[in-house]
Amino acid sequence: MTSAPPPADSSAAANLVIAMDGPSGAGKSSVSRAVATQLRLRYLDTGAMYRAVTWWMLEHGIDIHDPAAVAAVADRPRLAVGTDPAGPTIHVDGHDVATPIRSRAVSAAVSPVAAVPTVRTILVAMQQEIIGTGGIVVEGRDIGTVVAPHAPVKVFLTANPTIRAQRRTEELRHDPDATVALTEAELARRDAIDSSREASPLARAADATELDTTLLRLDEVVQAVLALVKDRVGVG
Ligand code: C5P
Repeated sequence: MTSAPPPADSSAAANLVIAMDGPSGAGKSSVSRAVATQLRLRYLDTGAMYRAVTWWMLEHGIDIHDPAAVAAVADRPRLAVGTDPAGPTIHVDGHDVATPIRSRAVSAAVSPVAAVPTVRTILVAMQQEIIGTGGIVVEGRDIGTVVAPHAPVKVFLTANPTIRAQRRTEELRHDPDATVALTEAELARRDAIDSSREASPLARAADATELDTTLLRLDEVVQAVLALVKDRVGVG
């Protein structure tokens, strides 16, 4: 199929919020961007925002294991987030940080930073402002529970840990040190912190539809989400 997707029903899509939560490496980014493109919606990667704040903390020599030190400067980084699913962008204090926020140093530091309640309060407010009246797919850990609890479509993507690590390692192929075993250990560490923190932990909203992507191709997951959107709100 090479033809462009038909435009979505503009009135219904304009206010639509699709919440896409789940652990690291479950496929949230690829699925969210494809769904947003198909339905002509915006796309917000909230993980990139936590990563951008973490990058800023590391750049400024903040001890990311000291929650009080992190909280004290949490309002200083100036984030600018672009929501085009074809090319999402992220800047901090005017620097394009799209590449450095994916570094191993940031990946290792982001969960402790994201566990600090002040950081979450600031970023959740910013995310809700970007979401505005809707027309957007939002991916993260707490979208269906905290950021957009009234989203009419909520998806919780999962996959078995080894598959998640394999997919993430494939994304990191420029990094010669990234092995599946190492990546799996890093994801497990991040998931453990994300799931056990007190402030809005990684959790499936009671009204979210869980989709296990372990045995599915990307296009199959996208089709499943589009079917859910059609079923829930008649868009697509
Ligand atoms: O999605 P990604 O793996 O880039 O997210 C990086 C980290 O940001 C997560 O491991 C988690 O600590 C944090 N995060 C969060 N809440 C979100 C999105 C991401 O705490 N809504």
